[in-house]
Amino acid sequence: MNTSFFTLESTFLAPYAFHSEQTAGRRHPEQTHSYRGPYQRDRDRIVHCAAFRRLSEKTQVFTIDFGNYHRTRLTHTLEVTNVARTLARSLRLNEDLAEALGLLHDVGHPPFGHTGEDALDDLTREVGGFSHNMQALRIVEKLEMRYPHIPGLNLSEEVLLGQKFRYLKKSHAIPAPLLEVQVVDAADSISYGAHDADDALELGFLSLDDLAENALWRIASKRVDEKYSDLDTHSFRDAVVRELIDRLVGDVLRQSERNIEESGISTAAEAVEHPILIKPGAEIEELKAELGAFLFERVYRHPKVLTYRRQVRVWLNELYDYFTKNPDRIPERYAKVMETEGLERMAADYLSDMTDRSAKLEYLRLVDDRKTVPRSPIEMVRDF
Ligand code: MG
Repeated sequence: MNTSFFTLESTFLAPYAFHSEQTAGRRHPEQTHSYRGPYQRDRDRIVHCAAFRRLSEKTQVFTIDFGNYHRTRLTHTLEVTNVARTLARSLRLNEDLAEALGLLHDVGHPPFGHTGEDALDDLTREVGGFSHNMQALRIVEKLEMRYPHIPGLNLSEEVLLGQKFRYLKKSHAIPAPLLEVQVVDAADSISYGAHDADDALELGFLSLDDLAENALWRIASKRVDEKYSDLDTHSFRDAVVRELIDRLVGDVLRQSERNIEESGISTAAEAVEHPILIKPGAEIEELKAELGAFLFERVYRHPKVLTYRRQVRVWLNELYDYFTKNPDRIPERYAKVMETEGLERMAADYLSDMTDRSAKLEYLRLVDDRKTVPRSPIEMVRDF
């Protein structure tokens, strides 16, 4: 038993942090590790699972067909996790738990981001629908097979419950989760706003003049102008994105410290009896919402993005139709899902595991199979 780990942790963590020693453990009991705490082990299990690696070729907002500068689901995940760790350490929360939760938060994303999610949700409506937050739980509780006789990654209860909160919070009024879970939510929201704006600028979907219409961007730009007078466009943009994130993180820290102090909590159990404590101040929250609405209109609904979305919906619809009619073409490892949950769920699991690239290649193969004169693999790659 690694008592020195727990002792060391307790000297640093705030009383309202979730101490690793308090863990409810794993569904399939395991010996504790000699030098890693439970959430360090969870972090390692998540990073080493296949679904996590596939995030490198999955869309955040822009797909690989738009270029090679922008965030993928993997780099977004790493950026969120870094911000979550910064927030957790500064608030003296359990950084290991926040890190594991950050790495897990988007593991269930299908190819092509929210377009892929919406398509799969529509296709599986009659058998319960599809949600990336639910899918993350399916992956780590059931689909990944990493240990003999144990389905999933056998993660700690707190990590599973944290992810479950993400899934349930949209449709249910549920109590607040541990502060470490709240930290990841705050980090996700900070990261995607600033980084989607950065990607949109690089890819030419927005100009700096366009973004100057947004109040939060203007505030960050003004600070950069005060610090530097001689930046070229690119350096200016980088500096504004940095300033924006720094400002948003600093604001969440200040507001959350105040909330925690005013709540009077002294244990992790008390923390969940309060409404969300880790959040931005009212002013920044409003400005962030404005930035979100701006990006929604100008980037997420940009004609080029919408055209691509229509295209990938066709790909996924056709693939789903094909694989539900030809389940023998789905790899053997998914067979258990068909036995227990049916054909539709198996097809959804298989499609959601695909990366943008593999889904596109599968679709091209399908089109190719229908042609009387087969195209060569070289032609397919060239067209891709
Ligand atoms: Mg995310």
